Amino acid sequence: MEKIQQFLDKYFGIRVLRKEQKIIVDNILSHKDVFCLLPTGGGKSLCYQLTALLMDGVTIVISPLISLMKDQVDYLKNIGISAEYINSTQTPDEIDDIMIKVKNGDIKLLYIAPERLDYNKFVIKFNNIHVSQVAIDEAHCVSQWGHDFRKSYRNILPFINSLENRPIVTAFTATATEEVRIDTIKLLGLNNPFIVFGGFYRNNLQINVHKEEDKLEFVKDYIRAHEDESGIIYCSLRKEVDMLYGVLSDIGYSVSKYHGGLNDEHKNINQEDFLFERKNVMIATNAFGMGIDKSNIRYIIHLSMPKNIEEYYQEIGRGGRDGAFCRCHLLYSRDDIRTAEFLINTSTKMDRREIELRKLQAMVELCETEGCYNEYILNYFGDAVKRKYCGNCSNCVNSEGLKDLTLEAQKILSCIYRTKAQFGISVMTDVLRGFKGTKIQQYRLDEISTYGIMREYTSKAIKDIINIMLEQGVVDRKEGTYSMLVLNKLSLKVLRGEEQVFGKLSDNTVCENEELF
Ligand code: ADP
Repeated sequence: MEKIQQFLDKYFGIRVLRKEQKIIVDNILSHKDVFCLLPTGGGKSLCYQLTALLMDGVTIVISPLISLMKDQVDYLKNIGISAEYINSTQTPDEIDDIMIKVKNGDIKLLYIAPERLDYNKFVIKFNNIHVSQVAIDEAHCVSQWGHDFRKSYRNILPFINSLENRPIVTAFTATATEEVRIDTIKLLGLNNPFIVFGGFYRNNLQINVHKEEDKLEFVKDYIRAHEDESGIIYCSLRKEVDMLYGVLSDIGYSVSKYHGGLNDEHKNINQEDFLFERKNVMIATNAFGMGIDKSNIRYIIHLSMPKNIEEYYQEIGRGGRDGAFCRCHLLYSRDDIRTAEFLINTSTKMDRREIELRKLQAMVELCETEGCYNEYILNYFGDAVKRKYCGNCSNCVNSEGLKDLTLEAQKILSCIYRTKAQFGISVMTDVLRGFKGTKIQQYRLDEISTYGIMREYTSKAIKDIINIMLEQGVVDRKEGTYSMLVLNKLSLKVLRGEEQVFGKLSDNTVCENEELF
């Protein structure tokens, strides 16, 4: 443990590991395979980088993008960690030099693109090399269900099997549905892996869907009103990026652009203009963003609907990485469906079209749902949520009759706490209303501090709120009893003000107490 702390301080300048990181690191160090699903910005890289330092041998990181690899290796070298990458930009001599260093045990982290593993000549270089860990970044690429499937990812398992001693295998991704998760674990041959499923809910991302708006007017108005903030505008097509860039720069806004049609130099300059705040707004296709670590992005506008929820969540995930609010505006029109279908039909191989069209269907359903957008997304990723409303997306905010019940929930929870979780809904309601029933007198519940703190509510209102809390997992029934209420982890978060509770009370529920007693 001490060593972990020491290395964290010494190299990374980080004081503590986040909860999920700690679990992951502990498992890797106990030689267990790990499958880790954490949202973008969740701190996945640190997990394999830190463990690489703590184990003998080299950690091989399989990473999908040459630019990402270079960024990470530069960063690691900068903080004093011996890291290298091997990719198609190097000559055979350069590669041999690096492999000699690896053989001599001078390298702790070696980054490679999966395409390297297509060559047996490369694979056999690892004979007699002590590989402690194979870490697979963007692991969903192994599965045909993953949104950016890469054939070479299928060579990872044969590579692992070719090594003399099986290393620990760790897989990291930010977007995976249950299908992808099961498929990835199987295709990477993970051995009874420890699965980390970090909560996907980011309460600082506010999701707004606008239907059939005048898109151009919306964007112009929005930028005018938020001129000092950093934001990204995602478009589906390159020509849309060029068009919007033309319109906005003609007006005089500080905009940059990025898409696959620009040459590398142009892309780099534009990206840096945005990262270093010479330009406030980045207009881009989905080619922009992988590995972008800009913390203060305050808004993300999608000029049209992305092809699938994975892409959408990954793109909005780039906002608010400093923890402050980021407003996400998705401008949806039914024409977007045709554009998305066109993109799928022209850029996806036949055998994947059906999968992509199904994902598109889910994206359309998200745009058209009248329920909570966050709930829909979390359920899509299999992050089973009982809570029906986030209180934070445009559907929740505009939902008629939706109330913030956090204060009421806190009163109820503290009453359950003070009565030591020995009573059910009826007694709890009586205590909160300050009613003098026989049970109340028998157990002297009128002497506790929460007695009568909800006098102004009717019994029905309190009971309805408790039922909403039960339904949303904010409080539980004590195991083995029918009705006793007991606090759980979420209750504590609500009590501490870290989580809110929203719900709809039925029409005939009056909160104001009209009964006299
Ligand atoms: P991911 O790979 O999951 O997208 P990163 O590993 O790039 O996330 O981490 C995102 C940011 O959070 C980085 O700037 C990183 O330095 C920072 N970070 C990671 N772990 C911690 C931690 N325990 N405490 C503070 N900052 C952290």
